[in-house]
Amino acid sequence: MRIARFRYRKKEAWGILEGGAARVLERHPFGRIELTRRTLPVRELSLLPPASPAKIILVGLNYKDHARELGMTIPKEPILFLKPVTALIGHGQGIIYPAAVSRLDYEAELALVIKKEAKNIPQGRAREYILGYTCLNDVTARDLQKKDIQWTRAKSFDTFCPLGPWLETELDPSALKIASYLNGTIKQDSSTSNFIFSAACLVSFISRIMTLSPGDIISTGTPPGVGRMRPGDRIEIEIEGIGRLGNRVVRP
Ligand code: MG
Repeated sequence: MRIARFRYRKKEAWGILEGGAARVLERHPFGRIELTRRTLPVRELSLLPPASPAKIILVGLNYKDHARELGMTIPKEPILFLKPVTALIGHGQGIIYPAAVSRLDYEAELALVIKKEAKNIPQGRAREYILGYTCLNDVTARDLQKKDIQWTRAKSFDTFCPLGPWLETELDPSALKIASYLNGTIKQDSSTSNFIFSAACLVSFISRIMTLSPGDIISTGTPPGVGRMRPGDRIEIEIEGIGRLGNRVVRP
């Protein structure tokens, strides 16, 4: 099932995608959610990030082929960092190139969204806590990442977390093709079979540190081939079984 969030009649709404149309979900008083008969053509919708998280947790180095590319040893435990929720944008929204940044990079990543509160979850039960999967672009100011001791500034500017286009709930994340395209040219081309830590392993590991809440996002790291974006560029992240997340880089 594909779940999308979008702007509709100046309001935010969620819907289930069927073919090229979205069936609108309505929330009633006392929290009941109903799938209405109302359908809207997806082409005419402004898609929003398909999650409203309390936190976004990302993994620093999680592809064996990317570790080889960087000449780094395989980490024994996941390397975690956070992005603020104010960095989130949806499919089609602009990535703002900050004036203070001299090198802006894309990073294609598979992200998962948490379904229900998770604390100290064993790896074997992690799937129960995952609502669905989507594409995430871990936009990074590479010059600031190198300059600062930690990554907060480099990863946290507004618009540095494109997410979408929608959530796919029925997906096995263990061997999916993942790619990025800069102005239509393929730049990253790998598979999640190169993961060092599986999606289930990451949910379990992170849930032993912090309570995961419904809507929280975990991003699973990027494969080799990260590179530079400039104002005017169009960057697309494509993951097998999900689709393509596309954003244009714009001047402030
Ligand atoms: Mg990354």
